[in-house]
Amino acid sequence: MLLDKNRLGELHGLLAIVQSIDIGVVVLDRDYRVEVWNTFMENRSGRLPSEAFGQPFFELFPEVDEAWFRRKVETVATLGTPTFTIWEQRPYLLHFKNYQPITGLEDFMYQNTTILPLKGLSGVVDQVCLLIYDVTDVATNRHQLQAANRELQRLSSTDRLTGLYNRGHWEERLRQECARYGRSGGHASLVMFDIDHFKRINDTFGHQTGDTVIRRVADVVRMTVRESDVAGRYGGEEFAVLLPETDLDGALIFAERLREAVQAQEVSYEGQAVRFTISLGISSTLQAPQGPEQLIAMADRALYESKAQGRNRTSLYSG
Ligand code: GH3
Ligand code: MG
Ligand code: MG
Repeated sequence: MLLDKNRLGELHGLLAIVQSIDIGVVVLDRDYRVEVWNTFMENRSGRLPSEAFGQPFFELFPEVDEAWFRRKVETVATLGTPTFTIWEQRPYLLHFKNYQPITGLEDFMYQNTTILPLKGLSGVVDQVCLLIYDVTDVATNRHQLQAANRELQRLSSTDRLTGLYNRGHWEERLRQECARYGRSGGHASLVMFDIDHFKRINDTFGHQTGDTVIRRVADVVRMTVRESDVAGRYGGEEFAVLLPETDLDGALIFAERLREAVQAQEVSYEGQAVRFTISLGISSTLQAPQGPEQLIAMADRALYESKAQGRNRTSLYSG
């Protein structure tokens, strides 16, 4: 076929665009052999056009799920309409290393792709065009945003000094758990405790030592709880631990283990050993049909009982 000069010039211009565009362009014939391979493809795959032309696509890219890709392409060819893949669902079609210096956090190039049907002069789809968009910076930004959100979530739900849940988040978790028991008939126990004569520690050894004691108590809590337990710093030197699926007997065992572990601790102040104890109170959701506020009030009553009885002890709420 002869082309007049204008048409040839037009084609030449189009070819220059395809070569310089920052999108991968691959044209495949109906036997999946490469017919067009632009500069993007050359640079990212490390294969010259001469190495790619006429080669079977699946040999050049063994990482491509052949059955899946064939199904996609056959649909495109049969219906004569394009199809797409997006990085959120399939991070990449072709495995290219990520060379972007700024977004060097990701190992590979994230890709969106388009598969276009190309009709020959007879009107039959005899080629498909594969467009590869590098969306690594989009994916990187998304991932950084997600990480920042997770960190924000963590910071807003934890207490700075101890790393335990702060009161707001702990109460929210308690409400959720209690709502769940209301529906499913499960139960939990609540242990609340308070450091004994803590004012004296502050007054004698200073606030910094007081803070160290609070942190140490939190460490002991972390070592004593199970994965499913919900531990929070309820107030200055008051803590609360919700024990799901635990009856009063189980909670008492937990509380006593915690009390003894705290009693065994010491922190040092100018070479002196500072010792401390806690008083604990326990209630059960089975005793508190009115919900979380009642549950807390009952554990608090039991805690007060422990203080009144001489401290460094555990009491169960008993009505
Ligand atoms: P009790 O055995 O009856 O609990 O006596 P207590 O001295 O511990 O009494 P109380 O619980 O009322 O005292 C709490 C003290 O804890 C008062 C407050 O100054 C101190 N406190 C609260 N938060 C912090 C904190 O974050 N760091 C330090 N160092 N002290 C705190
Ligand atoms: Mg207190
Ligand atoms: Mg106290």
